[in-house]
Amino acid sequence: MIESPYISVAVALPVLKSYTYAVPDHLKQVCQPGMRVLVPFGKRRVTGYIIGGIDTVEGFKVRKISKILDEFPLFPESELSFFKWISDYYIHPLGDVIKSALPSGLDRHDISCVFVTQKGKETILKEGLESEETPIIQFILNRDACTLKALKSNLKIPKLNAILNKMEKKDLIQVSAVLKKDGATIKKEKFIQWKGTPNTVLRMSKKRKTILDLVKEKNEISLFGLKEVVPTAGNLIKPLEKAGYLSIIERQVFRDPLGEPVEPDKPPQLTQEQEQVVKQVQEKPESNFYPYLLSGVTGSGKTEVYMRLITDVVEKGKKAIVLVPEISLISQTERRFRARFGEKIAVIHSALTKGELLDQWRKIALNKVSIVIGARSAIFAPFENIGMIIVDEEHDGSYKQESGLRYNARDIAVVRAKQCKCPVVLGSATPSVQSYQNVVLKRFEELKLTKRVNKHQLPQITLVDLKKYKDVWGYDKIITPTMAKEIRRCLDNGNQALIFLNRRGFATSPVCTDCGKALPCKFCDITMTLHKDQNEYRCHLCGSTLPIQIRCPECKSKKIKPLGFGTEKIESMLKVMFPDARLARMDQDSTSKKGSTIKILKSIRNRTIDIVVGTQMLAKGHDFPNITLVGVVCADLSLSLPDFRAGERTFQLLAQVAGRAGRGKTAGTVIMQTYNPEHFIIEAAQKQDFIEFFQNESPFRKALLYPPFSRMVQLKISGSNLGKVKMFATGIASVLNELVKADNLGDQVQILGPIEAAIQKISSRFRWQILVKSKSSVIVNRLVKSMLEHPKAVTGSNISIAVDVDPYFLM
Ligand code: ADP
Ligand code: ZN
Ligand code: ZN
Repeated sequence: MIESPYISVAVALPVLKSYTYAVPDHLKQVCQPGMRVLVPFGKRRVTGYIIGGIDTVEGFKVRKISKILDEFPLFPESELSFFKWISDYYIHPLGDVIKSALPSGLDRHDISCVFVTQKGKETILKEGLESEETPIIQFILNRDACTLKALKSNLKIPKLNAILNKMEKKDLIQVSAVLKKDGATIKKEKFIQWKGTPNTVLRMSKKRKTILDLVKEKNEISLFGLKEVVPTAGNLIKPLEKAGYLSIIERQVFRDPLGEPVEPDKPPQLTQEQEQVVKQVQEKPESNFYPYLLSGVTGSGKTEVYMRLITDVVEKGKKAIVLVPEISLISQTERRFRARFGEKIAVIHSALTKGELLDQWRKIALNKVSIVIGARSAIFAPFENIGMIIVDEEHDGSYKQESGLRYNARDIAVVRAKQCKCPVVLGSATPSVQSYQNVVLKRFEELKLTKRVNKHQLPQITLVDLKKYKDVWGYDKIITPTMAKEIRRCLDNGNQALIFLNRRGFATSPVCTDCGKALPCKFCDITMTLHKDQNEYRCHLCGSTLPIQIRCPECKSKKIKPLGFGTEKIESMLKVMFPDARLARMDQDSTSKKGSTIKILKSIRNRTIDIVVGTQMLAKGHDFPNITLVGVVCADLSLSLPDFRAGERTFQLLAQVAGRAGRGKTAGTVIMQTYNPEHFIIEAAQKQDFIEFFQNESPFRKALLYPPFSRMVQLKISGSNLGKVKMFATGIASVLNELVKADNLGDQVQILGPIEAAIQKISSRFRWQILVKSKSSVIVNRLVKSMLEHPKAVTGSNISIAVDVDPYFLM
């Protein structure tokens, strides 16, 4: 409860400060930080989050909150400092930080509704409306709540907006944001409790007696459970309640997003290395911040280490957060955790329905679970008393959110651990350059697992030089004879093969054979990809499609040749080459339907599939014991992208996918086809040697002052008019340069740009960028904030500027 007369509220709008409101007396009892409130804001009402009490206000009139929207806080007060840190560091409005942190089923409440005011009603009676106003008022009065959208689509009145504006000014109508009914609602279920004090004695039928016996024995049972024994229990319990035998209550239940039951497991004996690592963490004094980097080769048993550390934490009554990058991996990790920890787990990721997500969130907020496993947003789990945070596959790019609040969950995991005074373990077989640099600087302590649990060596990687096949045609050019031979051998031995290509679709660069032009997307600066399955061309940036019969937009020729290859083509080739094998494909296209990812993963595990073709979805973290062969169709795809992390990402992906081979009883083999066998990235990947990669990469980063040797903010400027975008970007850059000069920061900051982004257009929006670089994050942060407050930095119509602190994808 808040004792103060006023509260401070962060509103879910793009404003950087918070606002003060008064609380009506009858709501004071229930008001708590972490609850949502509906507050008047200008003429509208908007959602806000209570962030604390305020004792006195001076010099302005305080408005009252309209409504409290929650029965209990959605996050603990202690989490506020975390939200504030994020708001400050990522230069993002606090209200929107909180909104981004909460499950999405909660935010989409406000819709604009139009009401007729008292004055409006009086004006009708006095017949004082203008002719154009009458149909509008009538339309609104004819329904309970009239949305602005309904008004616009039903009344085809020209210049409706202007008329409405005028009417609002005359106080005839009012447009306000109104709460839409919750997209996600709480699920309630009936429970039957034993009472045993009948006021009337009922005749006991056999069924009634069964019900009474069962309820008496259990003392309380859900109606659902009762119906399993007596299917008609729903009707039978009512007279029993009335007579005083039973009482019926409704209580909130949690939807279960999980499919099948999981058998409990017994913790295995730790390997010597695992034991050493667990000890290294546990021997530290409790309740202190310790950041660790667990660098463990693929298959070295990192997950077992996490589970051991968490067992200890949970036994002490504390909470743990486990971040995992991909949904498919979450299901695997969840299974393993559930076998160990049973019902103590909540799961958070984007494949849940809004209702499921909300239920999981409530479970956490109401203290019903001890462990949260989830994708990046799980870092916001409303726990108090956190004892451990784990970030598995810490190098993974999907921890970075690329829209709205552009945060990196791996980085803020460290911040949250620091605020909660607990250890944080970042784990990976291929640590990010940034995290390893933190080990070098002794900011992180390294925990090492150098051997696989099954005692096998890491798989042998054979490089195949694709340059030798440049004059070869057909299958041999794409699935070389070396690769084909290994696949044959793998199948003959009854094992499974994983064929990796990080590009989906059938033909990735369709070209007109008459004029030689590639087939571009109308809205983006890239080529369309042929998807034979769907019988269309598709843009991988904006999703737009073209029919397969399309003529060349340049010369109208019909002859478009499907050059380039993606996973779909590889799959169809393998079908022809290995007709006896059962094939599956796992990429964004084949897994778009809910549940399809799990289905493919299950069929790999159950060995109803012999060859699986896939993109990076399949490359990461999975533990499939029967895969003995991994084939990389083309290792170089991402090597030369215009992004300083291109090499790092390529190394990580290759070493990770290689690590999927030979995790069971049989040792693994990897065939890696490449055009650049002597490139240091490919060589390091072949040895799966992270240190070798780091030692080659880090001097280059240092020389060019790239992260981790500097801090960067990327300003992403986009709009539908190229000229305006360019002009605005130039204006922003000159504001920055002015500020640098004024503060004498010339030798501490670099302003690079404005320049066109590597992908110049996406979804009809032109993209420009400016990079602000410095060794000090404080300086960059301050500079960008001053720029945003500068009067010249106001965006025009249809131009937006996104601030990306610590950008991950620079294209
Ligand atoms: P990583 O995450 O390091 O790639 P995993 O945690 O997936 O490795 O472990 C690889 C396999 O070894 C898993 O099947 C796991 O169940 C098994 N494993 C891990 N630790 C042990 C242990 N101490 N004893 C026996 N098996 C183990
Ligand atoms: Zn053409
Ligand atoms: Zn497009």
